[in-house]
Amino acid sequence: MTPAPAFQTRGLMRAAVLYGTEDVRMEDVPIPLPGPGEVLARVDVASIDFTDRKVYLRGQHPMIKIPGLFGHEWAGTIVAVGPGVEARWRPGQRVVAANSAPCLAEEGAVCRQCRRGRQSMCEDIQYNNGAFAPYILVPSRLVRVNLHEIPADVPPERVVFTEPYACVLHAVRRVAIQPRDAVVILGAGPMGLFWVIALRRRYGPDPVIVSLDHQDDRLAVARALGANHGLNSKDGNTRDMLQAAIGRPDADVVIESVGALETHREALGLVGRGGTLVSFGGVAPGPTLPVDIGHLHYEEISIQPIYHHTPADVAQSVQQLVAGQVPVERLITARLPLSELRRALQMVADRTTLRTILIPEHQDA
Ligand SMILES: [Zn+2]
Repeated sequence: MTPAPAFQTRGLMRAAVLYGTEDVRMEDVPIPLPGPGEVLARVDVASIDFTDRKVYLRGQHPMIKIPGLFGHEWAGTIVAVGPGVEARWRPGQRVVAANSAPCLAEEGAVCRQCRRGRQSMCEDIQYNNGAFAPYILVPSRLVRVNLHEIPADVPPERVVFTEPYACVLHAVRRVAIQPRDAVVILGAGPMGLFWVIALRRRYGPDPVIVSLDHQDDRLAVARALGANHGLNSKDGNTRDMLQAAIGRPDADVVIESVGALETHREALGLVGRGGTLVSFGGVAPGPTLPVDIGHLHYEEISIQPIYHHTPADVAQSVQQLVAGQVPVERLITARLPLSELRRALQMVADRTTLRTILIPEHQDA
């Protein structure tokens, strides 16, 4: 990366603006001017994920105001800082940021959920979007708690998954897994693969990890990353497949990492006695999951939904990614210029890519 030149925060940039359902436009918008406590960063790389695809299809999401700037995973270089920014931030620093920040004591009253230690449930959480652009403004709250400096010799692609990997670390931290448990992960997309990586890192070789997906190529990656079994559950009975693979038709922990009603139903049916369904994939509010309460009670089945991340998870994610402990190169399967965002969105839908890196074109580059 070339060092950032002295930056004039004037002029326009070609950025992705989401207007509604399946309506994203590349438009010339003003390069933001960093206000008090804010930082302006050049986006060196961005990454597109399934949430972006969902937002694009739904035309709405709690994380984003529409119409508005789009994209939430990026790594870049500070080009300008606003008045009053902490002295540790300066132009030229390589950085990565999460896409949100919970409320802060410095700004006034801390919300009830944050006081309970549930920062991912912050009642005043502030989201940030605009990664699909040459420059992104980082709000002051994010600068304070969820912006991290990256060593200059670490390529930005290595840390661009800070936010999604933090979500997985958050969940791994909260789910109780015993050393010899059987763990089933529904979905071998990028998030399901991050689960395999994070569980192996945390628990070593003991837990039996089974990945389920409908794509053999993804299951092969899951096995390469440490899953004991990769089972194609497209045809056939999943319980029978599990019985054949691990000697039991269910598991102690079943992680739904797809984000669909049908896979939640399937996941619940795979939870064994004393086990836990982890609802990790997000489903838009509406659908309901029928639960046999007797089964739930007498078998002590838990349902544990886990959303988003906390600043501690983001920090841990950055640390592991910077240290090269996460083989991100196995997940990056395409690189496109930002101008091909629509094509990238289609590739997510077609599942022909695990993760696509988007590279903005910089007039100053
Ligand atoms: Zn809060």
